[in-house]
Amino acid sequence: MPAVTEQTPLARLVRKGQAAQLARTKGLHTVGDLLDYAPRRYLLPGQLTDLSELRPDDEVMVVAEVARASARPMRGRKGTLLTVVLSDGRGHELDLTFFSSHGHENKLRPGVRGFFAGTVGEYHRRLQLTHPDYELFGADDNAARLVEYYRTHQIPVYSATGKIYSFTIRRMVELALDSVARICDPVPRHVREARRLMTRAEALELVHRPRIEDQPWRGLARLKYDEALTLEAILAQRRHEAKSVPATPRVPRPGGLLAAFDARLPFALTDGQQEIGKVLAEELASDRPMNRLLQGEVGSGKTVVALRAMLAAVDAGGQAALLAPTEVLAAQHVRSIRAMLGDLAEGGMLGGSEIGTKLALLTGSQTASARKQALLDAASGAAGIVVGTHALIQKHVQFADLALVVVDEQHRFGVQQRDALREKASRPPHVLVMTATPIPRTVAMTVFGDMETSTLRELPAGRAPISTYVVDVEKPGWVDRTWQRVAEEVAQGHQAYVVCPRIGEPDPDLTANRDSTDEDAADWDVAPDAGEPRELTGVYTMYEQLRADPALAGVRIAVLHGRLDTETKDETMRAFTAGEVDVLVATTVIEVGVDVPNASVMVVVDADRFGISQLHQLRGRIGRGSAPSLCLLMAVAPGSAAAERLGAVAGTVDGFELARLDLAFRREGDVLGARQSGRGGSVRHLRLGRGEDEQIIADAREDAFAIVAADPTLAGHPDLAAAVATRLDEDQAAFLERG
Ligand code: ADP
Ligand code: MG
Repeated sequence: MPAVTEQTPLARLVRKGQAAQLARTKGLHTVGDLLDYAPRRYLLPGQLTDLSELRPDDEVMVVAEVARASARPMRGRKGTLLTVVLSDGRGHELDLTFFSSHGHENKLRPGVRGFFAGTVGEYHRRLQLTHPDYELFGADDNAARLVEYYRTHQIPVYSATGKIYSFTIRRMVELALDSVARICDPVPRHVREARRLMTRAEALELVHRPRIEDQPWRGLARLKYDEALTLEAILAQRRHEAKSVPATPRVPRPGGLLAAFDARLPFALTDGQQEIGKVLAEELASDRPMNRLLQGEVGSGKTVVALRAMLAAVDAGGQAALLAPTEVLAAQHVRSIRAMLGDLAEGGMLGGSEIGTKLALLTGSQTASARKQALLDAASGAAGIVVGTHALIQKHVQFADLALVVVDEQHRFGVQQRDALREKASRPPHVLVMTATPIPRTVAMTVFGDMETSTLRELPAGRAPISTYVVDVEKPGWVDRTWQRVAEEVAQGHQAYVVCPRIGEPDPDLTANRDSTDEDAADWDVAPDAGEPRELTGVYTMYEQLRADPALAGVRIAVLHGRLDTETKDETMRAFTAGEVDVLVATTVIEVGVDVPNASVMVVVDADRFGISQLHQLRGRIGRGSAPSLCLLMAVAPGSAAAERLGAVAGTVDGFELARLDLAFRREGDVLGARQSGRGGSVRHLRLGRGEDEQIIADAREDAFAIVAADPTLAGHPDLAAAVATRLDEDQAAFLERG
């Protein structure tokens, strides 16, 4: 048999069924994956629970002896119920219950001793563990070894999966540690020495088999460093590659679209907009492809900045593509760009400006003929600016000369989508990514670490303040008061958004039912504790309720959600923008980018179901004009975590502060914007949210960039190269799975 390496499939080391389960539920495919699977926590042998001290709901681990066992057929069901009684020899007992006994009855014979772990339950006044995890001492010489082992070591607790419990995983890891011929070490020796790091082999021993006196977190810190080094090496290589293929310098001709646009701009650019505009112009004019992230608070005016760069690209003879996360936003971009450009957007048309260009819109659900025309205009170069959703990324979309790619609200798009769009140009286009979600330094250094960043800190002058309140819907009169406030704002000529967490039953007269889109899906950012079933308010229910509310008599109300057909969506947004609709009842489809300055109230229904960042984004739809704005967060007696979130949102409009709080509430996968069950595409050991690993990431980043600068292909660092390749494969697989 060939030697076991970290690349060896797990199925060669453990039972096939178990290997399949670990692959499916934990994303562990190889021996190396298993070794990289760190325990959740450790128990000291002193923490073993005494049978006399058990309490219901305790998570316990006990040493005990099987006193007796009995199996009997289950009543009214197929299968056998196995009950095992444990004893500590001092008169205390604990029951173990197995609803399918297969295999267990042969092992759990009277007299056998071992460790048993699980959560204590109560049944007929007796305490029990249901399907506990256990490890038996056995009768062979293994027993003495095991007892000795547990006496002298901390006991790792791995997160269990299905029928594979922590003890089983511990045994598998032990087998892996003892079978692998050589533990790869991605950290080059000179770096290891300079940073005084232990070897990876030492780290794995420390993490999986710590002795009582050891500090396993030190081993974990090394695994974190390895992960950071690998991620940063990928980014360093990306940046190296990007630099090695020159872009076409885009130098705008004077007196073109940009100049005409600037001359018409109804407001003065903020200092930040001007500065970033200069940076973008310089980068566009250079042969180094731009790869820049533009962060800016909601409403800080990122669109104008992007549009000016796009016009410069067009003035230089190229094309620009703007990728938006939703159809509503894509359509709005087209509308507002068209409004801002006026006749400049009617190039090639009668009455259009001579220097003008054509604006095309490409989405998944537009009519075949509109789509065909847009595709044609993009491919021929007639359209200088092409705005679209994911539809832009598809293979058959071609550009005559793509100069600049702008990605709006990046948190909805992954790196792969950025790349897909980039590949539409024969030479690398310049790329500008915009996000309103402030990105913590740790994430900026990892996920966006191959990009340069700019930040728009100030809001345009003259913005009115937003006040935010939590409305407890169970307090008498508060709900009525909420709708009265909406009516009052409408009476003063303002408009309102009412946001609901779901669409609900559509009235067949109101909507053409189309394939569901992900635009309404709040679930990319649902509140972490939003699990329990509760009837959430749907858009249509709310719509009917508001129409029947006497306080809102005569108020013009419309609905908007992602499942409406494109024309209805467009028409509704147009009518709302034009002030022909007073109250828009919508899903989170309005969350990003929608810009109607006259809207001064937002009511969020079931607000406890939304995460902090999402509420902040939603709220960013108001406070865009000169009127003071009001945001009302309705919630049913929010649980403590939800109350804390709502309180945080009500307490500040500072997006950076909220982002910081938000991260404290979230899990790592969500920090990266993509929720996933497997391991690919997400971080394993690093904690990006809390900033505690910032130094590790910064160190690894410095090291990785130095290594790649000296050895771009990593030819001299085979272990690091292998780690990079594995990681890229996993990310690719995760991307494909997500589709
Ligand atoms: P975001 O950064 O959230 O994408 P937008 O680009 O949608 O913000 O801009 C918000 C609003 O502010 C728009 O109505 C835009 O026209 C307006 N705006 C942008 N820049 C300025 C400015 N310098 N002065 C006044 N209003 C501006
Ligand atoms: Mg925007």
